[in-house]
Amino acid sequence: MFIMEDCVIGIDLGTTNSCAACYKNGAIEIFENAEEETITPSFVFFFKNQSTDIIVGKYGAEMGRSLPENGIYEIKRFIGKTYQEINLQNNLQYFSFKVEDDGNDPIIVIQGENHVFKKTPQEIATIILQKIKKDVEAKIGNFNKAVITVPAYFNTSQREATLSAAKEAGFTVLKLLSEPNAAALSYIFKNNVDDECYSLIYDLGGGTFDVSILKRTLNNIDVICVDGDTNLGGKDLDNLIVDYVCEQLENEYEYNPKSDRRTMRRMQKLCEKAKEALSVTTATEIILEGFVTGHHEVIDFTRKQFEEMGEKLFKRTIEIVRRCVDKSGIAKDKIKHVVLAGGSSRIPKIQELLSAYFDGKTLNKSTNFDECIAEGAALQAAMFSCNPEQRVNKIKITDVIPLSLGIACNWGEMSFIIKKNTPIPISKSKNFVNVFNDQATITFKLFEGERLEAAKNRLLDEFILDITPAPPRQCQVILTLNIDQNGILTTEAKEKYGENVKKVKINYVRGIQSDEEIEKILLDSTNHEAEDQRFVIVHKKKVYLGHYCSSVMYNFEKLPTTDDKIYDLCKNTLDRLEGLEVENEDIIEDLTKLIKEKCDPIAKKYEYKYMDDL
Ligand code: AMP
Repeated sequence: MFIMEDCVIGIDLGTTNSCAACYKNGAIEIFENAEEETITPSFVFFFKNQSTDIIVGKYGAEMGRSLPENGIYEIKRFIGKTYQEINLQNNLQYFSFKVEDDGNDPIIVIQGENHVFKKTPQEIATIILQKIKKDVEAKIGNFNKAVITVPAYFNTSQREATLSAAKEAGFTVLKLLSEPNAAALSYIFKNNVDDECYSLIYDLGGGTFDVSILKRTLNNIDVICVDGDTNLGGKDLDNLIVDYVCEQLENEYEYNPKSDRRTMRRMQKLCEKAKEALSVTTATEIILEGFVTGHHEVIDFTRKQFEEMGEKLFKRTIEIVRRCVDKSGIAKDKIKHVVLAGGSSRIPKIQELLSAYFDGKTLNKSTNFDECIAEGAALQAAMFSCNPEQRVNKIKITDVIPLSLGIACNWGEMSFIIKKNTPIPISKSKNFVNVFNDQATITFKLFEGERLEAAKNRLLDEFILDITPAPPRQCQVILTLNIDQNGILTTEAKEKYGENVKKVKINYVRGIQSDEEIEKILLDSTNHEAEDQRFVIVHKKKVYLGHYCSSVMYNFEKLPTTDDKIYDLCKNTLDRLEGLEVENEDIIEDLTKLIKEKCDPIAKKYEYKYMDDL
């Protein structure tokens, strides 16, 4: 037992298992939990008769076998998501506990003896983290500072929910570290990798898949590229086997256990065990005792069968690897280390396919699959610590944003604020102005992508800022985009000389969730250069006409003019402008000519204010 003041520990809060570790006096120590094991199943069991009593971890998982509907697991697949997302992505039928829709938030419904009680995914995560904290404190005394790992592909709300759960459990989280970055840190530390080189981390866990390409320089690890899927993991393979076994039972006994949560949970465990066994043997048996009354059913299951079932999923992970390598612009033979992390990367077929993709390269399996993420978290934690016993060579890990972020302004032009591949954390501002006289609001639409026409990019969010009424272009607004070290994106729009301000948190995933989207966006930006350039030219003309009209209207109200129809003409033109696209360049030019012929002489005569060059 050691006691460390100001100790910072690293926690891998995994889908299936969790693990805590600490770096001290030159070595990483994995903490044993109260059950004297280094791995704690991320499992919470609620007793039926005492709704306040819970068991977390290994014994919780054991209790869950007899009362599956009260055993809660894989909460990481739910945290920070809406009910609809979960329902779409996770087949809720495979879960042995009940999840309901609570105003589009998922809520877990647990049956007590005489009543039901409900828990949010975040509350379950808090319970797991509380156990981890308690068990570590039993070894080192009180502490509260930690680094917690999350999948690289967690979005803002998943990250925030994790932070809130940790706070509730009594932690001060110094950083949310991306899981592949943690795996890389552990690998680099354990293998003394100190030459300049590229590594790819293939991290397939129970519920998530992350790929990242990193560049090791003397004192840095720069993340070059990330990709992945927050809804792809070992659990999906288990479900394929479950489907197969259910089909066998249905054929043989006309019995489908899918409606029985208890049976399904048992079945899942058996199938998961069979899957894991097939990583070391070529055939196994799934023994179904008591599933069908009076029958002892043994289903033979071979690695070949499993590989056929899983082929699509395995190949999908390799496709994501390919996409990540392509995006990074680094030739695959320049990638020196291909590092495996996450329990599911033990599957021989996956290793075979990955090695084949890298032209027969030997993969690096030296990291301990179950512990490497926690080890990396512990190293990152030590870099934050002031405790002399936690002194460690500091390596800066620089994450990047994969696509540019910007705002649609002036009738649809993408005004870039943070360019792609910018390291985070980052804060950047840009000035915007009102277009119309006495305009009451400005609508900001935040986009991700590279196209110059904002609408061709991906809309992340939009919000409205009230502004102080002013002549055209006289109210200045500063818009700031901020991505913190935990990958959380916030924006602030603020009047330069006024009081109005609005802060918005954007639900932003660093990268793109769906398969096709990122390819589409990247492809789009390279294939559409000519189209984009044309957009800019026409757009300039449109903006000029818009400004001209709004300035005339402003002056018309302030000064006497000779022709009342001018005001209406400008107003109608402004209204029309909204709907005019690049293809309408001729119309925009004709309108400009018409308006200027009529207005230029008057504008000159009365010395109109806020006019662009006449
Ligand atoms: P992790 O989230 O990294 O803890 O990984 C957990 C996942 O790894 C679960 O889906 C496990 O079933 C899976 N797993 C663990 N060991 C093996 C193995 N030997 N072969 C295949 N999958 C495994």
